[in-house]
Amino acid sequence: MSQNRKYVIAVLPGDGIGLEVMPPALRCLEAAAKRFGFKFEFREYPWASCIYYQEHGVMMPSNWKELLKACDAIYFGAVGDPASVPDHISLWGSLLLFRREFDQFINLRPCRLIPGVPSPLANRQNHTIDFVTVRENTEGEYSSIGGRIFEGTSRETVIQNTVFTRQGVDRVLRYAFELARSRPKKKLTSATKSNGISITMPYWDERVEEMAKEYPDVKVEKYHIDILCAHFVQRPHTFDVVVGSNLFGDILSDLGPACTGTIGIAPSANLNPVSSKDDSAKEWMPSLFEPVHGSAPDIAGKGIANPIGMIWAGQMMLEHLGEKDAATAVIKAIESVLARGGTNLLTPDMQGKGTTQSLGVAIEQEIINVV
Ligand code: ATP
Ligand code: MG
Repeated sequence: MSQNRKYVIAVLPGDGIGLEVMPPALRCLEAAAKRFGFKFEFREYPWASCIYYQEHGVMMPSNWKELLKACDAIYFGAVGDPASVPDHISLWGSLLLFRREFDQFINLRPCRLIPGVPSPLANRQNHTIDFVTVRENTEGEYSSIGGRIFEGTSRETVIQNTVFTRQGVDRVLRYAFELARSRPKKKLTSATKSNGISITMPYWDERVEEMAKEYPDVKVEKYHIDILCAHFVQRPHTFDVVVGSNLFGDILSDLGPACTGTIGIAPSANLNPVSSKDDSAKEWMPSLFEPVHGSAPDIAGKGIANPIGMIWAGQMMLEHLGEKDAATAVIKAIESVLARGGTNLLTPDMQGKGTTQSLGVAIEQEIINVV
């Protein structure tokens, strides 16, 4: 937490519903700042969007890195407009570039079943579902090493390598073990597939076993990714911290929020947990906070997008900035508004008739008033 408690935030609303959910989310953050006695400076930029691409032929200005590094964190809406710009251009030209250039090696997604949100797992409503997925965000299966040989012939062959480095694996595992240790259940589930992927996955398992020796207080279990997906659906309440490689973490971190209701409420953080603004020995690299959902072109412009994913991502940003009380107030406000619910307040993805605006205002009011 900085001395004068003022935080400079790069605000990138992006495309589609990103533009609609950002304003109510900023108002919620302002309300929290006012109530808990700190300040935000929001620097809003129109780039990292397909709108900017159409005008400039690039996703971002050349000094984007400098502009973002001048900030304490990045608050990102959603990027993408597949009708006008192919996803590989929009995503690789913005979000994926941030992850890589700022070495945001942790992708963190909390999954909680909040009373009031209809869950597809109807018979789980009596259980407390509250777990976190930790995805390795920089290496593993998403390396660009590989290629095609004998192209156009009957021997055509395509290879893409998975790359695990000890440093890359250990740093995500370390983060996950520490997180598990800090939570009441103290349980870590590791996603593997060492029965089929016979070189890289046994290595992953080995590193988990090695690190587990340092955390005797953490219960460790491992499952092959296929059965783990089934367990997510059948007994999501038994998980606490779930760690996976880039690909397995990607799958689990979409499946998790889906089990707890609508994608519209799920938040996500892309963290570089080792970079600190106060440590001049290391290069400062900001972390990024975003909703799990994308730009949702199918509902963009209708004013019905659920703003909670964006607001909850803001809550994760408050935690990251060290503003714990404000973060608690925001999550409590989300919970109490959802519990109160009502068809007129909840957005259509939660089977209501509410709007982005009215749900956003209700949460903002609750942040001001919540005890
Ligand atoms: P991306 O690749 O950027 O993740 P996507 O194509 O996977 O995007 P989304 O844009 O997240 O998908 O949309 C998936 C579905 O969920 C769409 O039908 C969309 O309308 C719905 N959806 C996404 N976000 C919200 C939200 N905040 N409120 C309501 N519905 C949403
Ligand atoms: Mg998606």
